[in-house]
Amino acid sequence: MDLEQSLARLLGPAEAEVECETCFTELDRYVGLEFVGADADRAVPGLRAHLAGCPACAEEHESLRALVAAERTA
Ligand SMILES: [Zn+2]
Repeated sequence: MDLEQSLARLLGPAEAEVECETCFTELDRYVGLEFVGADADRAVPGLRAHLAGCPACAEEHESLRALVAAERTA
């Protein structure tokens, strides 16, 4: 079994999904891309899937979006 298969097994059967650690690292960039209308899902593959399945990161995503929105309108 190669590394990729091991990782796939570790992360579950769904499409490539990131872990919380990666999520927190990339979330700033992801939200920034969302706000400029860029393809955030393409830039950070698996992050949306992670947000869908991880309430903690989904909450972080929401608060970061609110923060960026507030900055943009300030
Ligand atoms: Zn998470």
